[in-house]
Amino acid sequence: MKLLFATGNLNKAAEIQCVLPKEIEIITLKDIELKEDIPETSDTIRGNALQKVSYIKEHFNIDCFADDTGLEVLSLNGAPGVYSARYAGEKRNDQDNMDLVLEQLKTHTDRSARFKTVIALELNGVVYEFEGIVNGTILSEKRGENGFGYDPIFEPENCGKSFAEMNMDEKNRYSHRARATVKMIDFLIKHTQ
Ligand code: IMP
Repeated sequence: MKLLFATGNLNKAAEIQCVLPKEIEIITLKDIELKEDIPETSDTIRGNALQKVSYIKEHFNIDCFADDTGLEVLSLNGAPGVYSARYAGEKRNDQDNMDLVLEQLKTHTDRSARFKTVIALELNGVVYEFEGIVNGTILSEKRGENGFGYDPIFEPENCGKSFAEMNMDEKNRYSHRARATVKMIDFLIKHTQ
């Protein structure tokens, strides 16, 4: 089974392909030659995930799934949250985003945070949703070279390593996206039997 993952982020696609059983092969927006960004104008993570699948339905009329993710920092009242990609500005620069979070947390002792992913899956005209959360801490400096986004400053609970210090398999043992993906896989297995 081939399934379109509505993302241009090849890191995300690789992480998800690693969790999926071999029978499910994902293709991405690059494979359907969609170069423009799908609008993400909702003020919730869930709303953005739903917006991405409905854009694909409207423009291509094919089944697909999409994820949206946010880093929620308790002391920052849940920020960056749905604004994670553009937290430090329209350039969507990972280093600037992390620097801003680290700067804002300097005056706080509580560094607890979580990643939340919502996956929306459009299948035969019905939309299903799956959520994955991982709790953890914002480190006081960046650590590690792997992954993407905020990975160097986020350490999952009981782990002792940032996401960026893990390889993909290790990250998938804890990650928000892998947790949401596993729920989607369980659903697909039951639904397509
Ligand atoms: P989106 O889900 O692609 O809209 O991502 C929102 C923001 O969160 C972007 O800045 C991403 O780089 C970041 N992000 C998404 N997933 C992850 C992750 O697994 N680790 C670290 N940062 C992430």
